[in-house]
Amino acid sequence: MASELDIAGFQTALKAKGFYGGEVDGTLNPATKQAMDAMFAQEATSGRLAPGWQGWTDPRRKLAMEQAIMRDAGIAVGEIDGLIGPATRFARDSYQNLLATGKPIIIPERDETPAKPIPATGKATIWPRQAECESFYGPVGTNQVLLTLPYVMRLSWDPSQRVRRFSCHAKVHDAFLRVFEQTLKTYGEDRIRELRLDLFGGCLNVRKMRGGTQMSMHSWGIAIDLDPENNALQMTKAKATFARPDYDDFWRIVESEGLVSLGRVRDFDWMHFQAARL
Ligand SMILES: [Zn+2]
Repeated sequence: MASELDIAGFQTALKAKGFYGGEVDGTLNPATKQAMDAMFAQEATSGRLAPGWQGWTDPRRKLAMEQAIMRDAGIAVGEIDGLIGPATRFARDSYQNLLATGKPIIIPERDETPAKPIPATGKATIWPRQAECESFYGPVGTNQVLLTLPYVMRLSWDPSQRVRRFSCHAKVHDAFLRVFEQTLKTYGEDRIRELRLDLFGGCLNVRKMRGGTQMSMHSWGIAIDLDPENNALQMTKAKATFARPDYDDFWRIVESEGLVSLGRVRDFDWMHFQAARL
């Protein structure tokens, strides 16, 4: 996993942007701090920061500047919000790759929709293909309802925050609810916590696919991410924890609803499952 941008990395980027005139020496000297403040001010005045930026702490401002630097390098980072999440983590990997090889990480075939039949699952809903989502679910971000979870989750990027309900599309509500009910029945709360099946990484989020040009399945609130830290976008089954046998029952539950795990089908993005076929 890529780590955060170091001071030398900041200095190099700030120098290229004309904010910093000093040496790239890896020390957080006053000129470097000034340069970061200047860049932050420019982002703020040009309206490119997420709301509430006036109250951000220093670490959050720093992460926001890192996001802005990656964005300016042509990498999709989503909102410049100074918060660590799957988008920022993946952007970091992509940015490091860009610095090392001259190319960001492109996820192969992200925009393609090869036919991969899912096994027959009794009475499970036949979900639309990815390309049919607009006609099946309607415009992105619409028809949302609140799903109340049968067990309390934690926000993956801030586990001190509890998640008791979240927004999802009305058409997937019942299937998603059954997944969590069955998960609770099968594993119990202690085991769920141990397996980090209670770390909520997001559902509704209107945005483009990472590394792609089509809308993300999250845009309709029909995809859920769990424990993104241990199941990052580019991790294969060698690293992703959700690929372990401990989770076989969980995936059986997900797949019995006809839902699709990108990890199981494509061996990437193990955090994610969706109510759309590939
Ligand atoms: Zn996802």
